Amino acid sequence: MADKPDARGRTVREEDLQAAVRAVEKSTVVCLSSHVNPDGDALGSLLGLTLALSAQGKAVYAALPRPEQFPPQYHFLPGREMLRDPEEIPEGADLFIALDCSNAERLEGLRPKAEGARFLVNVDHHEDNNLFGHLDLVDPGASSTSELVYRLLRAGGWESTPEVATCLYTGLVTDTGRFQHRNTSPEALAVASELAAAGADLALISREVYESQSLSYTRLVGRALERAEVLEDLGLVFSYITQRDLRETGASLPETEDLIDHLRTVRGTRVAAILKELEDGKVRVSLRSRDGAEVGPVARALGGGGHANAAGYTSDLDIEGSLARLLEVLRRGRHG
Ligand code: AMP
Ligand code: MN
Ligand code: MN
Repeated sequence: MADKPDARGRTVREEDLQAAVRAVEKSTVVCLSSHVNPDGDALGSLLGLTLALSAQGKAVYAALPRPEQFPPQYHFLPGREMLRDPEEIPEGADLFIALDCSNAERLEGLRPKAEGARFLVNVDHHEDNNLFGHLDLVDPGASSTSELVYRLLRAGGWESTPEVATCLYTGLVTDTGRFQHRNTSPEALAVASELAAAGADLALISREVYESQSLSYTRLVGRALERAEVLEDLGLVFSYITQRDLRETGASLPETEDLIDHLRTVRGTRVAAILKELEDGKVRVSLRSRDGAEVGPVARALGGGGHANAAGYTSDLDIEGSLARLLEVLRRGRHG
């Protein structure tokens, strides 16, 4: 894995942005998608670019690999009604743009359509991005893919309407943890300022994303926090939720994206983990770090990926087995 080419140390050069602009301008049909289990950045970058390119007169075909995973806290995002079913995405399109995906597998069922397009552009900020595009606009120093989309719009001279700005700002605010994580660079703040000037509705975004939880989800948070445990030798805080918890509280899995943020506030810990039982019995594990710990390598060792501070993977074991396996990898990382 060590010598696999990845995006470490890359930035996006002006000529790459211009190449992407030319690719868009040459294409009549543009297909767009982002990763499974979409977060605010996956959705914000996808919808922001969909709206902006539609306004340029492009026939835009945008879809999530699994539309049913659209989290309710992002229903307010402009452009949602433009998303299509993945089956409607044409094969062999002129241009396919993948957003916020560290590799093509993150597109799941849409991967063949991405790889079958005449030109594939990969816009992303994961340091483990494997550069799967014909053109890679990949910058691990960018706060978010939404920030990169904003740079692309600027390079193309394409307008950021208030709706576009709302989408992109949502990506920035969520991927930076409300401008609190280390990826909150001066450039990210400058872009946020430009998006605010372009009419992004900051108050709406805060209210919808952070203050519109269902009572069911609030109760689920209670369960997860009550069973949280700390393993001091590993500096780990962890908890889990089961399908039964979802049934009994009435919460849904897509609502639980920020559950882990509650855990990562525990003083004295370096890594937070939450294990979520999926319908098929597999377990999705989310990892977050603080104080300079790196969870990306842990997630990669377990078949997933992500950033230094936020990473994840899916495990075929049950919750207990997944936890045991995670502890093993964390212990190994600690002792050698
Ligand atoms: P999550 O905990 O699911 O919100 O994921 C945190 C971060 O890890 C996100 O940036 C994801 O893009 C990345 N990630 C999660 N699961 C995977 C996976 N199976 N493969 C690659 N990256 C992942
Ligand atoms: Mn993402
Ligand atoms: Mn992102």
